[in-house]
Amino acid sequence: MELNGITYSYDRKTDQLQGVTASIGQGKMTAIIGPNGSGKSTLLGVMARNLAPRSGTAVLDGKAIAAYKPKELARKLAVVHQRNDAPGDLTVERLAYYGRLPHRSLFAQRSEDDEEAVEWALGCTNLLARRGARICELSGGERQRVWIALALAQKTPILFLDEPTAYLDMYYQIELLELIRRLNLRHGLTIVIVLHDMNQAVRYCDEIIVMKGGQAVLQGTPEQVVTARTIKDIYGVDVVVRHDELAGMYIVPVGTGERN
Ligand code: ADP
Ligand code: MG
Repeated sequence: MELNGITYSYDRKTDQLQGVTASIGQGKMTAIIGPNGSGKSTLLGVMARNLAPRSGTAVLDGKAIAAYKPKELARKLAVVHQRNDAPGDLTVERLAYYGRLPHRSLFAQRSEDDEEAVEWALGCTNLLARRGARICELSGGERQRVWIALALAQKTPILFLDEPTAYLDMYYQIELLELIRRLNLRHGLTIVIVLHDMNQAVRYCDEIIVMKGGQAVLQGTPEQVVTARTIKDIYGVDVVVRHDELAGMYIVPVGTGERN
């Protein structure tokens, strides 16, 4: 997907996105990072066509996303939002079947394709044994995986995720990132993921897009983007960049540079 000069305004007074130009590589895992309120979720909203830009275009496979029919776009890309709500008494399996809606005509029976897609989605997310569980009975980590299963059941080549690791403890964060990276590497899914933790972006992603003040100010590989200088510019925090044989490149914040 190519983003060309995307401008978006919630209130027609200030622009929350100010001419964002960026490129999402096919088959890559791309992180969007940046301070709170920098426009990450808004950008994802425009990319998924939940929000219509005031100007600029998002082009997917050579065609502006505005020109896609709803079902046609829903077969191309699936989104896991930052906040998700479902009736708690719905089962895991029932919720996963909602991902099949773009592939079915109204009132149609479940097809073999539907069943295969749901089995695959539950298998990928390690939820086969929990298929009969109700949403309200799940742990935070399981619940997050159900939303990914729903998106996977949609069987799209592209998956967008907005801070899927928020509110999870460390084990579930890493488990989820490993799952998403596996979907990317083994199944060839193109992934765009909003991440809060810079070290996670560095470790799991091929590309990083940095948002600041409604603009995409940087794009490149982790090595290109993450330097002490850029982190200071973006977040106002002094960091040291280190390399570890096992962990690879990582950053450690050392302070804001303000006097105590
Ligand atoms: P991020 O995801 O990077 O934290 P957002 O994209 O959510 O940032 O928000 C970007 C800016 O748009 C912020 O200033 C935020 O206050 C504003 N904003 C977000 N959602 C809305 C909305 N529904 N109505 C009005 N302003 C909004
Ligand atoms: Mg956000």
